[in-house]
Amino acid sequence: MFKPTSPQLSLFEPAVIFPGALPQDDWSYIFRDKIYPKIDENIFKHLYCEYWGAPNKSIRLQVSILIFMNMERLTWREAEYQFQRRLDWMNATNTPCDMARIDYTTLFKFYTRISEDDVAYDLFQKLTASFILECKVSVRQQRVDSFFMHGWLAKLSRYGLFKETNRVFLQNLRKQKPGLYDSIHKELSRAYLKDDFDLTEKDKEKANKKIHEMADDMYHIKSAFENHHQVKHYKSFQILVQVFDQQCSIVEADKKQAESDNTIEVIIRERPDGKGKQIISSPHNTDAQYTRKRKQIVTGHRGFVTETCDLNNDVQYLTDVNLKAAGDSDANEINNLEDRLEENGFKPEALYGDAGFVNGASILEAAEKNINLEGPSAGRSQSIEGFAKEDRPLDVADFKVEIEDDTKELIILSCPNKEFPLDQARSKKTGQLLVHFDNEKCKECSLKDRCPVKIGAKISTLTVDEAQYTGAERHHKYMGETDYRKQCGIRAGAESLVNEIANKHGARKSRHRTEKKSKLQLILAAISCNVKRYVKHSMDSSAQNQPIM
Ligand code: SF4
Repeated sequence: MFKPTSPQLSLFEPAVIFPGALPQDDWSYIFRDKIYPKIDENIFKHLYCEYWGAPNKSIRLQVSILIFMNMERLTWREAEYQFQRRLDWMNATNTPCDMARIDYTTLFKFYTRISEDDVAYDLFQKLTASFILECKVSVRQQRVDSFFMHGWLAKLSRYGLFKETNRVFLQNLRKQKPGLYDSIHKELSRAYLKDDFDLTEKDKEKANKKIHEMADDMYHIKSAFENHHQVKHYKSFQILVQVFDQQCSIVEADKKQAESDNTIEVIIRERPDGKGKQIISSPHNTDAQYTRKRKQIVTGHRGFVTETCDLNNDVQYLTDVNLKAAGDSDANEINNLEDRLEENGFKPEALYGDAGFVNGASILEAAEKNINLEGPSAGRSQSIEGFAKEDRPLDVADFKVEIEDDTKELIILSCPNKEFPLDQARSKKTGQLLVHFDNEKCKECSLKDRCPVKIGAKISTLTVDEAQYTGAERHHKYMGETDYRKQCGIRAGAESLVNEIANKHGARKSRHRTEKKSKLQLILAAISCNVKRYVKHSMDSSAQNQPIM
């Protein structure tokens, strides 16, 4: 049952019991007076039954402890342990010394409850809005970056995946149905529950043999329980079936050649087949997605963080945070991110991102919302030196163009060799502009090896659209204008934000097996980061306002 925190103060509060134990300018006073009352419990009300059940532990207290945990990268048990001993935590949460107790399972249950909802993001938005208002922070300029949050358990090799998937299921079966476990485990190729936790096999030949044996075991388990009215509903069994279907296929073995009566042969697929679903990399975290970025291999998620970056601000605050699958691109998220900023009242005039976020399409989409998306866009010349070279590859921004005032449509006026197009029209199929040039002139042209025009047998064609042109134009601007590059240099600060969130607040690695809980971990890291900045800013301001003795 929902019960708001009582405003009643106690005689056993740390400041009364131990006067002077905490310095007068301790952070906990700022938290207690300025942040604790801002935790709006009513936004959590819908998570509780209105009339029935025991009253909940104070929501303000639980949220505060989750924030402290993320500030100091503590585990559940450490948080329970610290709360009983930390005067600053007690002071920050108005907790009397004799009441400073919280069970770590209570905290974890609360965490699980709020992970199923958007309430943590609402809290982030409300706290941020109040910090921004109070500290007179301008949101006109903001910067964004993304980073990988590694999954709870890294991607397993096929050997590890098969071994662990079988082990997790058998462990669950032994717990739930010991009789069934006893009957099946003797029929398997190895004692999965007796082996050490070793998910690697160095010897390649041995590993291949064992992979086949474990795939047979998996098929045996699948066949044994797929019609069992209870076991077939176990999550661990469903994961086992999914892993088997993605990694293996079965064929009818030749009866004459088959050594045993077994007429089914399990074949390991060359590449796993997700059949439109995500490929499972680990039975512990089926939401985690496997991706590669240059030499980096990641199984997990991609976190997005946005913060204010106006140089006139005394303090910068995070304005948005989100978590997506690791394979999601920055360019896909930028549009949603701008919508959230607008919805939350933090819409920027200029938003700085790197080449992952900035491309022709995202610049145009942002412009429709009156946001200037600033930063480099990927182009044909990979470096500033390369762009400065006389023989660099040409792109559509090297053509003379005109943008129609009303329709914002692109018209090509002439090519880099000052040749006029023969004609230009939109493709009905793709909507792209097809611009034709005289192919005889193109064949003779000294720029033909650098030009993006396709020289055909009868005609030369340039295929382009407004997004491509906008992206190419931005590429030219970034590569060619030193002042613009300096202006965009403000984005580099987002790298230190990522470092702060990922490494100091522990968002580099997920502590959880599901995407929802990992997302909550990231949101709490962002709230902690903003709280820490607010407290520091308040302490600095009050130090400045102290009279000089
Ligand atoms: S190849 Fe053709 S389109 Fe390209 S610059 Fe030369 S003449 Fe112009």
